[in-house]
Amino acid sequence: MPAIYSKKCKCPYCLKETETKRVLSRHIRVAQTDFDGFIHYDGPNVYYYEPVQCTHCRFIFHEAFEKLRPDVRERLTTDILPALPVLAFATTERTAEQAIQLYKLCLYSAQVTLQKESILAMLGVRIAWLNRLLENKEQEVLWMERAVEKYEALYLDYTDAVRTGIPHDVLLLRIADLYASLERTDDAKQWYSLIFQSKKVSDRIKKDAREHWELYRERHQI
Ligand SMILES: [Zn+2]
Repeated sequence: MPAIYSKKCKCPYCLKETETKRVLSRHIRVAQTDFDGFIHYDGPNVYYYEPVQCTHCRFIFHEAFEKLRPDVRERLTTDILPALPVLAFATTERTAEQAIQLYKLCLYSAQVTLQKESILAMLGVRIAWLNRLLENKEQEVLWMERAVEKYEALYLDYTDAVRTGIPHDVLLLRIADLYASLERTDDAKQWYSLIFQSKKVSDRIKKDAREHWELYRERHQI
């Protein structure tokens, strides 16, 4: 029984049903999880298969995308879709490099279709993580810095979990963890402290934050 199967999903642009590859849940084997949430898999990598390219119209999307506005659809039709490449590996098994290429195009789609900033940041983190997998430190850091900037902007403009697209305490932990991954000790300390002192942060997030900060201190002998 192959570990990869074809999943049907609806394209947010042409609204037709398209197919993409996914990892069968019984074949998903978690090897370890880094403290910033990145999961290492034994066997097929689940992250590789999140971006989808529609086989009908070329649009590249993530299932977290929201409905497209009429003006956005028009721009896609005239300017964007004709220029998008048809990627053969979008419909097959993928390597990490191919997945990164799809994520970058997916991020571009997210930008031009005005998806939430939280989605753009999430895609950026995925690109950073896949570069971690390839041990491409420079690219990992670059994408992580971009993502943390986005998350900080979200924090400053925060309204609520639905509109911003991420719960408030999860956002705080994400920022602290990204700074820890970037080894920016002062920033990480500041954001973890904010979590420890907040009355609004859930006990679960506080517990995770404490564990992450302890681990960071051990590793960096602080
Ligand atoms: Zn489509």
